[in-house]
Amino acid sequence: MEKHAKTYVYGSLLLIVILVGLLFYGYNNLTKLKDAYTARGTELEATKETLSTEKERASNLEAIIEIIKQEFALSEENGSELLGLLKAEKERNQEFEDQITGISGTVGLLDKLSKTDPQLLQKYSKIYFLNENYMPGVVLEIPKEFRRDGNTSLFIHEKVAPFLTDLLKRADRDGISLLVASAYRSFDEQGSLKNGYSVQYGTGANSFSADQGYSEHQLGTTIDFTTTEINGTLYDFETTKAYAWLLKNAYRYGFALSYPKDNTYYVFEPWHWRFVGTDLARDLNRDNKYFYDLSQREIDAYLISLFD
Ligand SMILES: [Zn+2]
Repeated sequence: MEKHAKTYVYGSLLLIVILVGLLFYGYNNLTKLKDAYTARGTELEATKETLSTEKERASNLEAIIEIIKQEFALSEENGSELLGLLKAEKERNQEFEDQITGISGTVGLLDKLSKTDPQLLQKYSKIYFLNENYMPGVVLEIPKEFRRDGNTSLFIHEKVAPFLTDLLKRADRDGISLLVASAYRSFDEQGSLKNGYSVQYGTGANSFSADQGYSEHQLGTTIDFTTTEINGTLYDFETTKAYAWLLKNAYRYGFALSYPKDNTYYVFEPWHWRFVGTDLARDLNRDNKYFYDLSQREIDAYLISLFD
């Protein structure tokens, strides 16, 4: 019985020790678990907090984007309105500028026209004649080398001078002898010339020499050409190379034959060429017409480009 009691006590003690050990072990683990849980909870709390902060930030951003969107839409509307205004203004400016250009262009043309002597493209005849006081603006002396009689001064309208010089130089380069026999003649000079012819030829002079005031020579734009090919009478001019050259080329320099064969004004004057401007001379040449074939109205349209 004693032996059994001892065993029981020892067994009980051992059991107690085991239980206490177990309890301690369990508690220990439980504490660890609790700590872990607590840590986890804190972590979770932090994450939750972060999330809410992020959410708040996101919603803030959304609001900002919305505001920006609205403002943008508004400014786009405003912008397109402003752009429209700007465009309209620009167009108005352009229109205004065009008008100004148009007006100044017209003013320029009118100014040019007002400065161009209409007499220079006037048809002269027994009906229309120049006033005895008529003077071309400025006349320039024709260089000696181009004059038939080198010692006698001859003058030409200052604006026709460059055309005449070009013509004479071109003829020279083409191997053609072309000289000036007569150019500008004043009313008085024309008068004394006519008197001279009248004494020589009587009333027959009327057929080839214009009366005072009727002569195109008084304009300062008309030339009587000659050539070393002939010595005496101008009527032989018709047969010269110089005349053939003029027929082919004079229009390029603005000169036109005033009195062709069978004209109703004077006898055929192959030497007598009037400056009518390159536009009109070219058109006359193209249409195989002469200055006096056209109406004054048709001719006047060329006045503005007379010296172009
Ligand atoms: Zn003449």
